[in-house]
Amino acid sequence: MLNIVLFGPPGAGKGTQAARIIEKYGLVHLSTGDILRGELAAQSKLGLEAKKYMDKGELVPDSVVIGMIGSKLDQNPAANGFIFDGFPRTTAQAMALDELLGKKKTPITGMLALEVEKEELVNRLLGRGKVSGRADDQDISVIENRISVYNRDTAPLIDYYSAQGKFRAIQGMGTIEAIFERLCLAIDALH
Ligand code: AMP
Repeated sequence: MLNIVLFGPPGAGKGTQAARIIEKYGLVHLSTGDILRGELAAQSKLGLEAKKYMDKGELVPDSVVIGMIGSKLDQNPAANGFIFDGFPRTTAQAMALDELLGKKKTPITGMLALEVEKEELVNRLLGRGKVSGRADDQDISVIENRISVYNRDTAPLIDYYSAQGKFRAIQGMGTIEAIFERLCLAIDALH
């Protein structure tokens, strides 16, 4: 099994690269942001509750996203492995993920962290907002808040995975193709 945490701030290119990685390596893509947007589109109770946080660029409570990931893992018992995109985002989430995977005897193989300059992140998010219609990509103050929340709550996970010898930094500037090649080299060196 190959279980990868694709890490990085909002706008780092996690979703774009995850789509390519799952195709090449035959993995299941688990994006908590996509799952939450799906819940919202379906107007479920969970989706409507999550919207309050997403619209402000705040994190949805740990218990909600951990529960979602737990059920997705259970729903894919035959997977070759998973790409976690946008999850974990807090130390509590990372610990819960280790516990869930520990029960299945299939630990995280590595954490690949896309590194992108802040100015580029903001430009990419604003650009995406024009085509995706995502409210949280169209408001500069929400974008700034998402980046601050990342720096405060999520960036510490670099230390968490470094302590396990699993952290790999990937230069996330440049063409989609060049970044994908760097990711593939790092993945191939993991197993
Ligand atoms: P994303 O698509 O990953 O940028 O996520 C969009 C929004 O969904 C975030 O700004 C959060 O409000 C929420 N979200 C996604 N993943 C998580 C997570 N792992 N923990 C908490 N909130 C999340």
